[in-house]
Parts: sequence; C-alpha cells; structure tokens
Amino acid sequence: MPGFEIFDESEKQQINEVMDQGFTFRYNFDGLRNGVWKARELETLICETLHVKHAHLVSSGTTALTTALMAAGVGAGDEVIVPPFTFVASVEAIVLAGAIPVFAEIDETLTLSAQAIEAVITSKTRAVNFVHMCGYGGDMDGVKAVCDKHNLILLEDACQATGATYKGKALGTIGQVGTFSFDSVKTISCGEGGAVLTNDSQIYANAHMFSDHGHDHIGQDRGAESHPIMGTNFRISEMNAAVGVAQWKKLDRILAIQRKNKKALKDALAQYPEVSFRVITDESGDNAGFVSFFLPTEERTREVVAGLAEQKIPAVFYWYANNWHYFKNWPHIHHMKSPAKLPIDLIADRPDYTQVKTPKSDAIMSRTISMLIQLSWTEADIKMRIDAFAKIFKNQPA
Ligand SMILES: *Cc1c(COP(=O)(O)O)cnc(C)c1O
Repeated sequence: MPGFEIFDESEKQQINEVMDQGFTFRYNFDGLRNGVWKARELETLICETLHVKHAHLVSSGTTALTTALMAAGVGAGDEVIVPPFTFVASVEAIVLAGAIPVFAEIDETLTLSAQAIEAVITSKTRAVNFVHMCGYGGDMDGVKAVCDKHNLILLEDACQATGATYKGKALGTIGQVGTFSFDSVKTISCGEGGAVLTNDSQIYANAHMFSDHGHDHIGQDRGAESHPIMGTNFRISEMNAAVGVAQWKKLDRILAIQRKNKKALKDALAQYPEVSFRVITDESGDNAGFVSFFLPTEERTREVVAGLAEQKIPAVFYWYANNWHYFKNWPHIHHMKSPAKLPIDLIADRPDYTQVKTPKSDAIMSRTISMLIQLSWTEADIKMRIDAFAKIFKNQPA
C-alpha cells in the first residue's frame, strides 16, 4: 500500500517548485506565488482521474472525516453507524462532531453488510460511516440501497482504498461524500493530508468553508471574504499537496504493482484448502493494498500468525488482537476517555460502549490475517513469503 516506497526526484521537484517560486499557503497571495497552486492542482487531478465533481484537500484523513460529517449536516445527537473493524479515527471523527457512534456487524467482505446496517437503524440515525478496509469495500449496491431507503447519508471512508473501484465507480464517490487519507503509509502519501470527495455542490461548499474558518473563498482578498458559517483550520499546506501531485501521477503504476504482487501471494495461498479469502465484490476494482484471508478456526489462525512471525515475515496483521483497528481492543473508547467533557457525555441515552457486542464480527476477525502488499518487493521478497506459506501449510490435507 505505501506510496512513500517509491518517492523519487519527482516529489522533491514538486516541493522545490513551492519553495523556489511558490508560497506555502494554499489560498490567495497571488502576487507571491507565481501561479503555483499545488493544492488546486492535486484537487483537479483527483477529480479528473476519479470522475468526481469536487475534491477538497485537508490536513489528514481524520480531519477529512470530521469535515465530511459536518459538511453533510451530521452533527450533535445524530447517530452514525460504524463498523468495529476500522481505524480509531472513524469513532473520533463522529464523537468530535458531536454525534453518536453505533456499531454494526461486518461480514466476509470485512466491511459493513447492508443487512447489519438495517438492523441498527433508529429514528436518530443520520449517516453510515462505511469504511473500505484494506484496499477494498463491500456490497456497495446493497449498502447504497439501504441508505437511500432510510434517507441516510452514506459517508465512504476510502482512506485505505484510493484507486479502488466498484462496478467502474471510484470508492469514495458512491455515497454523498467520501474521504481519502494521504498519511505516511497510505497508497498515495502527502506526508500528511486527506481529501473530501463529493458530487454535491452544497457539501463541497460546506467542506471548503468549514475546513478554513468558514471563509467563502470568493475574490482575491482574504481579509475581505465573508464567513457564511463557522469553521476551523484543517488546511493542507502547499508542500504536502506538492508531494501528493507527484504521487498521484504514479497511481496507475502503484495499482499495477500491487495487483501483480497480490496475485502472486493469493495464487500461492489458494493451493491450500484450509485457506479462504476475503470476499471481493468486484475483483477488477481491488486496490490490492492487502491480501486478507481466513483460516477455519481462531486457534489455527493464531498458529499461522505465529508461524509467519517465526519465519520473520514482516507486515502480517492479525487485526483481532491489534490495538488500532478493532473496537474490542479500545478501552479508551469503551469509556469515552477524554481530557475534557465531550458532547456525547451530555446525551443521557447514548450507548454504553463497555457493553457493545459484535459476535459475528469477532467470529470473522478472529480468523482473519492480512498481509500488506508492498511496492518495493523483489522476486526474492515474494518467494520468501510463498516459501513460508509452504512450510506452514504443507502438513494440511490436500
Ligand atoms: C489512515 C486512516 C484514517 C485516518 O487518516 P489520517 O490521515 O492518518 O488521519 C481514517 N480511516 C481509515 C480507514 C484509515 O486507514
């Protein structure tokens, strides 16, 4: 997945353009910047590649999520459905927007199922934060249909799925609003950065205003702009955007390498009858940032994880026991621990997060292993992994 693996002269050139001729602030200062507008350039590239009307860059994937929620009108007291297998930012963004996370089960796509979403909808549900984990999404037709039926905002967190598509549509552009992360380990890296995607002009206007103190961005004099709404500062800098411009131009190459490397591992794993794979609803659209597979039992899964560790295979993830990606392992979230009182603390009938149970997701995640697909692998790096599989699985019945 990580675009930083192929940093080269092109990222440096882009940054130098900002340092030599441009200005580090993304808005205004026309006289100082000699026509260098890196944030705008990257936004245009994203819109053209993904066939989406609007892309707005912000400082991170996490601030993109908060911006997306607020821009779509999801805020205080609203319930937002979210999966237990995600990144902790999903919950942070909802809580900091004043909204209430409601957990629903995932299925073998490793993402929320339409049925599980429908099962937890209440009169307060406003949105679904659908998280495309590990390079791919799920049953987007089904999920969209449930959201439309219940008049919910579909927010697609595509932070791990830049470049992935479902039936020809880019993930992140199917719902009313979507997000990317361009942090240090994502498919495309800006160092730090994120984006809000939407085809809705009002959501776009809210997003660019909200993430820059409510500025309307009309005219050339920042001091004279009006502020139709209150906002905050989630801006990206021109240096970060510049790195993203160079990276975005490598997206096709990144996807091609990932797909080739993933296929080699997946073909090798497919020989072993005890291995089955994460369900991918449109194989041609997989970003291929990870290969994720299931073993028949939790016990066997832990054995295989240990076997891969013994053979020193790096970047193997057993999310079920991982601190950052599974709700079960987040005591600070169970107790909503915060340095100060949170909006959710004022909501008397909010869920008791110490009591949230997701048995179906537990049953899936306890049997799931993901391996990061890297861009820098040589043939030997791939062979090392395939040989490790052979050692671990060779005693199994054919
Ligand atoms: C990385 C990530 C984020 C947050 O992105 P940052 O840029 O690190 O803030 C949000 N959601 C998911 C699924 C992620 O993987």
